[in-house]
Amino acid sequence: MNQKVLEIENLTVSFDGFKAINNLTFSMDAGELRVIIGPNGAGKTTFLDSITGKVQPTEGRVIFKGRNLRKLSEYQIARLGIGRKFQTPRVYLNLTPRENLELTCNRDKNVFPTLFKPSPAAEKRTVAGLLETIGLIAKADIPAGLLSHGEKQWLEIGMLVAQSPDLLLVDEPVAGLTDEETTQTGDLLISLAESHSVLVIEHDMEFVRQIAQKVTVLHQGSVLCEGTMDEVQNDDRVIEVYLGKPEE
Ligand code: ADP
Ligand code: MG
Repeated sequence: MNQKVLEIENLTVSFDGFKAINNLTFSMDAGELRVIIGPNGAGKTTFLDSITGKVQPTEGRVIFKGRNLRKLSEYQIARLGIGRKFQTPRVYLNLTPRENLELTCNRDKNVFPTLFKPSPAAEKRTVAGLLETIGLIAKADIPAGLLSHGEKQWLEIGMLVAQSPDLLLVDEPVAGLTDEETTQTGDLLISLAESHSVLVIEHDMEFVRQIAQKVTVLHQGSVLCEGTMDEVQNDDRVIEVYLGKPEE
């Protein structure tokens, strides 16, 4: 039996009575790469916010690796192993990619001074390995401000991975990227999914098709349907939600 990394039971999140998330139930296996799609306002961002502790459930539970996250702070949830990539990259533009990654690795070491003490050599390998994973070896030593938008996104993904999260949450990673960068981002997420559970929110259907194994469609704060890309694209309810009803 596959272990669940994330289980969400009957989750409701209300804002002044409006249910942005409405009795939503969802689960995902450890090691899965899952894509969530849904029209604007479907509740995708609120869904991520309720996993990371940015908003608290009005009803229901969020369970990460068997542990109820209720009442934990965003910081505590991050420390348990949930990393979130926001839409806008948050990297230090005046530092190089290598320095950005070193900073992230060192920050973790200070938090766990006794538990986690890599030798300086191991640390270098880690940063070098991350640079290779995110495809930035050739640009490792130029200021991050000179990177393209896509390269900044990859650097931020690298900084998340440096913190060794079990679950990576990625909100619209290819918005504003070139086609080539989009494909490379897909390859990066697929390779990260070999060693992490990855939950991606995305609108770009071609990109979803590139990476998706299983897709969950959100609509009005609930799960509308779930399945392979082909299954959800041919689902009448999904067609209606995305394209609207044909005029009569
Ligand atoms: P998505 O990311 O799928 O576009 P959101 O999760 O951002 O959707 O929003 C879902 C619904 O909840 C929208 O109707 C939005 O206006 C509403 N909403 C989101 N956050 C708040 C908030 N803090 N206060 C009130 N309404 C909100
Ligand atoms: Mg959103």
